[in-house]
Amino acid sequence: MTSGLTSNQALQSTDLEDSTKAGAASWVNSIVLPRGLKWLDSDYFGVGVESVKSLPAQTNLSRWIPFLILHLLALPAFFMPVSPLAIGVCIFLYSIRMFAITAFFHRYFAHKCFKTSRLAQFIFAFWGGLAVQRGALWWAAHHRHHHKNSDKVGDVHSPVMRGFIWSHIGWITADCNMPTRYELIPDLTRYPELVFLNRFDWIPAAVLIITLYASGCLLQTYCPALHTSGLELLLWGFFVSTVVLFHCVCSINSLSHIFGNQRYETDDDSKNNFLLALITFGEGWHNNHHRYQSAARQGFYWWEVDLTYYVLKLFSLTGIIWQLRPVPDEAYTKSQDRKV
Ligand SMILES: [Zn+2]
Ligand SMILES: [Zn+2]
Repeated sequence: MTSGLTSNQALQSTDLEDSTKAGAASWVNSIVLPRGLKWLDSDYFGVGVESVKSLPAQTNLSRWIPFLILHLLALPAFFMPVSPLAIGVCIFLYSIRMFAITAFFHRYFAHKCFKTSRLAQFIFAFWGGLAVQRGALWWAAHHRHHHKNSDKVGDVHSPVMRGFIWSHIGWITADCNMPTRYELIPDLTRYPELVFLNRFDWIPAAVLIITLYASGCLLQTYCPALHTSGLELLLWGFFVSTVVLFHCVCSINSLSHIFGNQRYETDDDSKNNFLLALITFGEGWHNNHHRYQSAARQGFYWWEVDLTYYVLKLFSLTGIIWQLRPVPDEAYTKSQDRKV
């Protein structure tokens, strides 16, 4: 499988990428790190970004190492006493980061299901960055690509085409999927601050790690009754929480194209799955979403629990976001593409 673009398309997209990035993201384009620090820039590829994009979609074993380390560093948490505070922080950080992925990276940046201010948009991108699933623009661009090619040859993470492991994690270990597909998100590259956060996507994670460790150390000193420490909050708040979050988000790419029911004929294998919807705060209504991608709501009925939508509705009442795009009326009628 290729990265999804023919060489001709890649050539055209290079032009578009150059024009969109150069046109809007002027100050961010002028940031060039010294030779030894270029690895901190997610847009830097030594052999050239187009060369990397045109590589065959095969796993690079060295790209499994960060995932392996992430999982290994979560393990010690289960071999030491744990405080209620640490469990609470773990659940809290899972919740706010899952919400950020579904509400902001997915429903806002990838699908523009609602509108917001430029400041809020930046905060949403940073908030989502705490999930350590790369930058908002990388995430949104690959997701748009998924919808254009769902369960077809070009789909970067189809379990139908490449199996469960590939769709769950393998595709993120392929070099060709590392560059941001800027050609698919010209509406987002207009904002240099978003491109900056996308290039330096490690910043939110670093802030989270430092905050957790420092908070734990302070609490150990000044509130010893809480029985926590910097190490404990780091292990539970970052490593355990991030590993669980990672697999739950990835289950939408893998499991929700395998297990569940199809309400709509969508020309792909997307499914509605109640359990996945619970753990991902609404993303499990994936067949609904594949059929009506621009709707802010993914659970179309009251029994289709969609926690993300409920919170977005609250956000809209405060004026932070507005114009939530509704589920079209036709979704509720017996139309030709409705199976049940
Ligand atoms: Zn899908
Ligand atoms: Zn989507």
